Amino acid sequence: MRNIFILLGPPGAGKGSVAGELSLLIKVPVIASGDLLRENVRNGTPLGLKAKKYMEAGELVPDGIVIEMIGAKVSEPNCSKGFILDGFPRTLAQAEMLDGIRDAEDLFNVFYLKADDDFLIRRLSNRRVCGNCGKIYHLVNLPPAKEGVCDTCGGTLVQRKDDTEEVIKKRLEVYKDLTAPLLKYYEDKGLLHVVAGDISIGYMMDCIKKIMKW
Ligand code: AMP
Repeated sequence: MRNIFILLGPPGAGKGSVAGELSLLIKVPVIASGDLLRENVRNGTPLGLKAKKYMEAGELVPDGIVIEMIGAKVSEPNCSKGFILDGFPRTLAQAEMLDGIRDAEDLFNVFYLKADDDFLIRRLSNRRVCGNCGKIYHLVNLPPAKEGVCDTCGGTLVQRKDDTEEVIKKRLEVYKDLTAPLLKYYEDKGLLHVVAGDISIGYMMDCIKKIMKW
């Protein structure tokens, strides 16, 4: 029996933050497709070289590439008790792949983190990430003590190449076209829980705990 959580929602709705908190709580690993892809791009792997142009343009990396990457991850031994998916599935083909690896006894929960475009654009264009440890900052709501420097490790804060306003708008469009249809897909299966994405992470976790009756 595996405890499988899927975090759905537009870019900037807080999937990464919720995934981190959930992982601490239920002790299963996070599999974040965007982080895995960025790692491949950084390391110049063949997969990274294929993915880079799509990511910089705010488009989805082709299903075949992402499905293979996630398929390999979820079959690693540390996922034997379950895993939290952040950023996957993003298309119907990806959701069908997940259905294919799901056992009858697996617990499966899908959380939709909901927020509107203006909020997401504001949040993402102010997002900075530590290039060293990955810690996330917000220039207005969660600024570092010293400008441009990570409070935790002293690394340099950078803006993701796809966090510029133009690419954010493209990512939101792609989300609406290709990923939003998954909401109905999971709702029809009775697996979808809706949580507000424009509230603090503490409140979001409270909602999730309430839904899960933890
Ligand atoms: P994220 O960090 O989840 O915002 O993802 C950053 C970028 O990685 C996306 O804009 C896509 O280009 C790519 N990406 C991440 N996850 C997927 C996925 N499941 N399918 C296709 N492309 C993805």
